[in-house]
Amino acid sequence: MTVAGFAIYPPDAPAQRVRLRRFFVGVAAHVMNLAFVLLCWALGFLSTPHVTVYAAVALAFNVVVYVTIRSGINQRFKDPSLTFLQIAVPAMLGLYIMFFAGLARGAFLLLGLAMFSFGMFRFKTRGFMQLAVLILSVYAVLVAMLLYFRADSVNLRLELLLWVAFAMALGQFSFLAGMVGGLRRNVSDKNLKLAQQNSELEVALQRISDMAIRDELTGVYNRRYLMERITEETHRCLRNGSAFSICMVDIDWFKKVNDIYGHQPGDEVIRSVARCAAGSLRQLDFFGRYGGEEFVMVLTDTPLEGAMVTAERVRTRIEQLDFAAISPDMRVTVSIGVAEHIRRADSGTTLKRADEALYRAKEAGRNRCEAAPLVSSLHKAD
Ligand code: GH3
Ligand code: MG
Ligand code: MG
Repeated sequence: MTVAGFAIYPPDAPAQRVRLRRFFVGVAAHVMNLAFVLLCWALGFLSTPHVTVYAAVALAFNVVVYVTIRSGINQRFKDPSLTFLQIAVPAMLGLYIMFFAGLARGAFLLLGLAMFSFGMFRFKTRGFMQLAVLILSVYAVLVAMLLYFRADSVNLRLELLLWVAFAMALGQFSFLAGMVGGLRRNVSDKNLKLAQQNSELEVALQRISDMAIRDELTGVYNRRYLMERITEETHRCLRNGSAFSICMVDIDWFKKVNDIYGHQPGDEVIRSVARCAAGSLRQLDFFGRYGGEEFVMVLTDTPLEGAMVTAERVRTRIEQLDFAAISPDMRVTVSIGVAEHIRRADSGTTLKRADEALYRAKEAGRNRCEAAPLVSSLHKAD
């Protein structure tokens, strides 16, 4: 909320916003108290100068509290919500006006009790007790001053009775409010713990679902998930005739990589090839590790010609990968067999055709892409 370009609440400070919101509840209480003071004045219980002092101090106090919280100065204090201050100062102000309120004095005690409830959500029983002792002491001083300065207009027995009643009410109220505060803190502690547990569970669930569909070494999809997705794609093809192609990718002479450089550099080569191929595809395509150093690319909505272009692009990118970290001038190549899925065929047949095309690519000298023939042009037509 802004007024003439000024933000009433500080932006990006949720805790401060809560404090200010609570402050405005206090302001509302002040306004109500002031209305009561004005009523006493209208009925002739209070005189104008005392009411003016009361209103001026209340206004100044609220401005100071607002500026303190809005500017963030409050965050340097032990109680950044300024709860004690926001109850103690109005209470003293109330006692001040009570001094002059004559017969209406007792009525202010009810307002005092309502104000006391302001700290319900912040204080423990101890904090309430401290506040009660402070207010009761000042109230006792007030009674003493009344006796001293206005002995003629004060009924000592009645004032003592009011004091005791107020003390008993505050005592019980402290106890109750302390209990409510305790319950509230308990609930919010538990909520916090639950929220923590929830987010831990979410992370664990994410890990488990990742483990179920991802290959541990490369992070790309695993064989099981690939097969599921390929089956889904064959169903989609059957339903709406969309073409898709499968590319079987196998690293050339990979045994030599293991034999010459060792298993760990071999793993690094597998990871790099997977990263490169996965990064070369569109968002809608999917890619996974079929086993060992073999991968499968599934190119959705892509007939053979387009699939050959993509396969060729992946092949050249892998050829250009830099493996200087393993050995200077080391180059890795792949052979790729490409098959367009034939409608009504099953996924196993398409994979087998891609595998046969891969075999031919190896036979023909490796580092190349081979297309599987579209065995039945009749199937394709329907
Ligand atoms: P070709 O060009 O005919 O494909 O020759 P190749 O040496 O690559 O032959 P093949 O595809 O049969 O070799 C697969 C090798 O990959 C055998 C196995 O030792 C190795 N391999 C399989 N899985 C892993 C792995 O997870 N890490 C490593 N480092 N090597 C693996
Ligand atoms: Mg190989
Ligand atoms: Mg192989």
